[in-house]
Amino acid sequence: MLQLDHVEARYGSFKALEEVSMSVEQGELVVLLGANGAGKSTLFNTLSGLLKPSAGKIALNGRDVTGLKPSALVAAGVVQCPEGRKLFPEMSVLKNLMLGAYVHRRDKAGIRQTLEQVLSLFPILDEKKDEAAGSLSGGQQQMVAIGRAMMGRPTLLLLDEPSLGLAPLVVKQMFETIKGINEQGTTVLLAEQNAFAALKIAHRAYVIENGRLVMEGDKDTMLGNEEIRRAYIGA
Ligand code: ATP
Repeated sequence: MLQLDHVEARYGSFKALEEVSMSVEQGELVVLLGANGAGKSTLFNTLSGLLKPSAGKIALNGRDVTGLKPSALVAAGVVQCPEGRKLFPEMSVLKNLMLGAYVHRRDKAGIRQTLEQVLSLFPILDEKKDEAAGSLSGGQQQMVAIGRAMMGRPTLLLLDEPSLGLAPLVVKQMFETIKGINEQGTTVLLAEQNAFAALKIAHRAYVIENGRLVMEGDKDTMLGNEEIRRAYIGA
């Protein structure tokens, strides 16, 4: 579904991504592991069109999408849920969710249907839909962020650190929800520091270090890898 071929991204002269070649197949849940500053957000921003790659190619279902604008990528099915949620705290939960449907704004019936699906995925958001997003708990705000991304009807959902700052029990529920979203047919690329929980729900993972992919493997290989355990799992 998604293919990256020697992708490079820069901030000025600093190369934040180098020679990144990877793929995600339809229906997969793939985890991207990496320490702070390794380049996870840079890779996601490159995939969602916020950052233009300085070299290399990105293909989606065989179509070259390198350098497309974020709106064109959302229309093509690539939707990012950014690190730190980036909600509009004064606006209601419902208005925040509806922002994610902007590219489908002419399809009112479709939006209603997607909203129903999102609210059934996160019933608490139905109860709180008229409240200011900023008044919700951290876990609920993360649900709004994921829900807003789902309103874009992703075929490929990019989740950047969804567990950041959440209490352990909430993190567990969040990973269950992400697994459910994947099982219902959305392909997921998930960047996480919470390596163990992320690998448990994943099919495959890549490790990024200093802007380069240094390791790739299926879930069991990664969970059993000494280096991974030492660096990311702490066991
Ligand atoms: P984190 O989890 O801390 O966000 P990350 O793996 O997502 O880490 P990135 O945010 O992609 O890492 O950063 C990769 C590298 O690019 C880091 O060295 C960072 O300092 C640098 N970087 C990120 N954004 C910018 C920017 N806007 N301008 C210059 N350098 C940047």
